[in-house]
Amino acid sequence: MLVLVVNAGSSSLKSQLIQTDGKISLMRCLAEKVGAADARMSISYAPEFHKATYGVAGLSVAECLAKLLDIICDDPESPISGLDQIEAIGNRIVAGGEYFTKTALIDDASWENLLRCEELAPLHNPAADECIAMTRRLLPNTPQAAVFDTAFHQTMPPKAYMYPIPYRYYEDYAIRRYGAHGTSHRYAAQQAANLLGRPLRDLGLITCHLGNGGSITAVNHGKSIDTTMGFTPLEGLMMGTRSGSIDPAIITYIMRRDGIDYDEMERILNCDSGIKGIAGGSSDMRDVLQQAAAGDERANLAIDMYVYRIQKAIGSYYAAMTRTDAVVMTAGIGENSADLRERIFAGLAHMGMILDKERNRVEGAIGMNRIISIDDSPIRICVVTTDEEMRIARETDNLVSMM
Ligand code: AMP
Repeated sequence: MLVLVVNAGSSSLKSQLIQTDGKISLMRCLAEKVGAADARMSISYAPEFHKATYGVAGLSVAECLAKLLDIICDDPESPISGLDQIEAIGNRIVAGGEYFTKTALIDDASWENLLRCEELAPLHNPAADECIAMTRRLLPNTPQAAVFDTAFHQTMPPKAYMYPIPYRYYEDYAIRRYGAHGTSHRYAAQQAANLLGRPLRDLGLITCHLGNGGSITAVNHGKSIDTTMGFTPLEGLMMGTRSGSIDPAIITYIMRRDGIDYDEMERILNCDSGIKGIAGGSSDMRDVLQQAAAGDERANLAIDMYVYRIQKAIGSYYAAMTRTDAVVMTAGIGENSADLRERIFAGLAHMGMILDKERNRVEGAIGMNRIISIDDSPIRICVVTTDEEMRIARETDNLVSMM
């Protein structure tokens, strides 16, 4: 089945055309800094994936997707010449709340519920919904699936997903922890099981999705039993622009002191905090590592805090599980930054997670799934390349094939 995968972020768009029968990616697109004056979109096709880059200044995420669809229908190198060749569309949705516990077909009823979930992930869900509204108009007869980041975490027990606030907020407003990045954690756990040569159901894994957003999940016997993101993707680790967990009293204190409203406070916590808030400039880890190397104290502090919070989360999930066989690193920072991996695991050797510094730094290993702990490390450390788009395409195929 030829599936168009749409992974809309707050300021990015990742999209692929995937032929699920052979698990082959035929087209890849990445638009970054969407909304900014220097926003760019790159498109490439199998087999060489030579990138062509287009300016997309001022376009929204959905408008970038519309431009992508125009280009791939006209480009002689594209694997398709018309939208009717797309057999299904798989959309990544960050938050599904209690409305969606698994991948869902998008129809009028589920669309209403998708709109209700927007407030659970205000940076992500609205952009994804705009893309869906647009593709439903352009391809009204093509089946569409919504693949939720929250679905994998539906196995969390109540002791992990409930907040210690009055119970009626759960009953009346469904306030509970939902987690996110589930598609990535599930995929990373399966890839690690393949690397370790053991069935996922026999393993205890701590999966670390460390990208612009970040979350860590305790995967016990293949099931998520706890994860750092909560009601929204704001809880948990320190992230690129998100604060992660802080004392909630800080929020009301700042609102009173600065006289700001809820929307502004939410924006500060989501967009001006985390690495950006501490380092003071970029939220991009590569920039912050460079600033730190040049002696910038605030950049160094941001990295120290980032690493420390990851170490504490890994430690707490070691305690939450009955066994830990491996820690799995994935996403932009987890896959690519040997420096940060070294700093994170320097503090975890006493728990039996012993990094092999040379394996961690093997040149040319980026993009390869591999084990980077020493041979007799009691707990293995794995690096796996996340492939959310492939996973979304396969889930979409499974669902649409059952129609
Ligand atoms: P993602 O959200 O998974 O695309 O990850 C984006 C984050 O990964 C950004 O903060 C990037 O700076 C970071 N990143 C990508 N490559 C590297 C690298 N080689 N070293 C450090 N951080 C990186």
